Amino acid sequence: MSKIRKLYELPSLPYSYESLEPYISREQLRIHYEIHHKAYVDGANKILQMMDEARRENRSFDVKAALKVLSFNIGGHVLHSIYWNSMAPKSRGGDRPGGRLEDKIVEDFGSLDRFKQEFTEAALTVEGSGWAALTYCRQTGRLIIMQIEKHNTNVYPMFQILLVVDAFEHAYYIDYRNDRKKYLENWWNIVNWGFTAERYERLL
Ligand code: MN
Repeated sequence: MSKIRKLYELPSLPYSYESLEPYISREQLRIHYEIHHKAYVDGANKILQMMDEARRENRSFDVKAALKVLSFNIGGHVLHSIYWNSMAPKSRGGDRPGGRLEDKIVEDFGSLDRFKQEFTEAALTVEGSGWAALTYCRQTGRLIIMQIEKHNTNVYPMFQILLVVDAFEHAYYIDYRNDRKKYLENWWNIVNWGFTAERYERLL
């Protein structure tokens, strides 16, 4: 009897659909989560199950194609999971990171505003189903901004992601149409700095 193997699951949202209003509408959040995020979970599981089955029956499959689709979907799933936690209702998220994370941002970027400018530019200019992420490099002890294209390319392997923003159109088109800049400006109102700071603190 073969063991039941674990698959990816859509995690529950850490707040209700209307919590991020007026910056992200109930409908925008609901569709993004229920349809788009779920599609990555289903897409990753489909490939995992296909590979499980092929291995069980000792059949070959197109490894290159499967791994590409798998990485696209796992990347989408993991990044969306971080994205939901990268936001919080305005009353909970706080206006600034504070503490050691803020000190580190100021040390590495010059000021919080300068960091926000660079992070926004990274999100504005990333291509495709793209993301901007704040990461921490253990080797140099630096905070480094990462652009992630198609959920998985240009990634610095093993760098801990501290904060991400989804810059793909599906994240904002209902509320902002093609105005990615406005979405990103407003996004800063709902950043969950507590979450980001906690992830940073855990590395120290
Ligand atoms: Mn998305």
